[in-house]
Amino acid sequence: MSYKDFPKVELHLHFEGAAPPAFIRSLAKEKNIDLSGIFDARGNYLYRDFDHFLSVYDAACTTLQSPEDFRRLTLAVLEESAANGVVYTETFLSPDFCGGGDLGAWREYLAAIEDGAAEAERTMGITLKGIITCIRHRGPELAKLSAHCAVETYGDFIVGFGMAGAEMMGRPGDFAYSFDMAREAGMPLTCHAGEWGGPDMVADTIRDLRPARIGHGVNAIHDLSLVEKIADEGIVLEVCPGSNVFLNATGDWPKHPIKELRARGVKVTVSTDDPPFFGTTMTREFDMLAKTFGWGDDDFRALNRTALDAAFCDRATKARIAGKLEKA
Ligand SMILES: [Zn+2]
Repeated sequence: MSYKDFPKVELHLHFEGAAPPAFIRSLAKEKNIDLSGIFDARGNYLYRDFDHFLSVYDAACTTLQSPEDFRRLTLAVLEESAANGVVYTETFLSPDFCGGGDLGAWREYLAAIEDGAAEAERTMGITLKGIITCIRHRGPELAKLSAHCAVETYGDFIVGFGMAGAEMMGRPGDFAYSFDMAREAGMPLTCHAGEWGGPDMVADTIRDLRPARIGHGVNAIHDLSLVEKIADEGIVLEVCPGSNVFLNATGDWPKHPIKELRARGVKVTVSTDDPPFFGTTMTREFDMLAKTFGWGDDDFRALNRTALDAAFCDRATKARIAGKLEKA
């Protein structure tokens, strides 16, 4: 039994981190870029630990040099998602990788990504929306450029603002200016916290950046009063169990806190994070949750509903996706 064909909603997917290795290898070949050091003998991404993962990620991104590369990336990523039953996905986009944070360049990259998304919607029936993320380890000043790009292109396709990158660099409050700018423009917010940082990082993120959703957030489990607050305030966690297990952020599957967080009333959702880097897919996430915790169709329908409610897209899109989920 596999959940491959079960319709799925995914909220936490790093766009370049979802790039199939074969796609990056073919781009590298076209452009004569030597990336042999970042692949293993079987052609998968190769790295030692989380910091090395970030540098391999940056190396893979050097192949993505033009709007057209990003249009092709959009199709390659969505083909993989659609093959795993995903009907709606929100992906993190960083203007840092698309024109270095320049607004004019970003608009060109964005137009190309939207072109790819429209084609994927027509041919594969999958809907993509983008969340602009600043990258924490690049510091608060570059984050402001991303926030500026976010505010200027907020609309039908760019539906939110957030922060990714190395969580242990600086404190959440360092980025308050960028989050305030996005919030004042009416943008919904999400922020990585509590993947590597403890409950204090989650608590500071909620206090200083006030996001509707937290990326990961799983370390909140070490402070049950914080878990209660997250549940009471309806803050949604974008949980990526396969990523946490792979990077040893939480221990192995049976130890993963998603079950307890859910039992304590937290709105949890399930995503893949950077699927080819962590050897996972949305199918595998659902299958492992079924195998580890005995979750079944009703649980996954509930997870999908929570995710769709927490999605940052407009109401008409939500209604259309809800129709697709009802078929499950
Ligand atoms: Zn992430």
